[in-house]
Amino acid sequence: MLTFYPRFIRTFTDLPGHLSLLIHAWNGCNMRCYGCHNDAELIAQKPIPHLLLTAEQTLDRLGGSDGLFDAVLFSGGEFLIGSKAELESFLRRVRLIFRGKIIIMTNGTFPGKLKRLLELALIDGVHIDMKLPFHLLDPVEDAEVFEAIIGIVPSARFCQDILDSVDLVIRHNSRLSQVRTVRYPLLSEEFFVQIASYVEQLKDKYDSIVPYSLNPYHPPQK
Ligand code: SF4
Repeated sequence: MLTFYPRFIRTFTDLPGHLSLLIHAWNGCNMRCYGCHNDAELIAQKPIPHLLLTAEQTLDRLGGSDGLFDAVLFSGGEFLIGSKAELESFLRRVRLIFRGKIIIMTNGTFPGKLKRLLELALIDGVHIDMKLPFHLLDPVEDAEVFEAIIGIVPSARFCQDILDSVDLVIRHNSRLSQVRTVRYPLLSEEFFVQIASYVEQLKDKYDSIVPYSLNPYHPPQK
């Protein structure tokens, strides 16, 4: 079941040039990243029945915000961890009640769901993190690096899924999308050079305007 965190956040910075409403799904995450800002509230803490919002309650509150915001951003945890049917049905209803842009934030591990939502035009943009040069790392040989940055040792399929999602976002070519990397202090400069080079090659391949940014690392507040 899709459930949401009750605190909605008004933001000017997540989507430059837009006043957006940031809504967090409260369905956990399949990674445990270094310095995750959502870990305490949204991942370590499981949904609390008397606090969580259902999809219906979230839609009611969002409907009351129509006209006040240019965009709604759905984040998590991992927003796409929800079932395909629930995500589609939820986003179809968002389209009906909210006239602004719909953006999702994802770690990229669900390319099938992402592709479907883009094909159905249920989302206008995607903010996706490419945290490591997944195209160059080996899940066995580089297990320590994976564990340090994404908190798990992934399968080769898991890494390929993230690469497929990055490809989808760049090919979709929305000026509302973003590919981002955090400058994790544990990684040497070479990692960031490799990620940037991979993304820029894809952008050239698809003649894409999707911006790529290497963002500073901000430790979570205690
Ligand atoms: S993918 Fe995002 S929400 Fe999930 S653990 Fe990593 S930083 Fe946190």
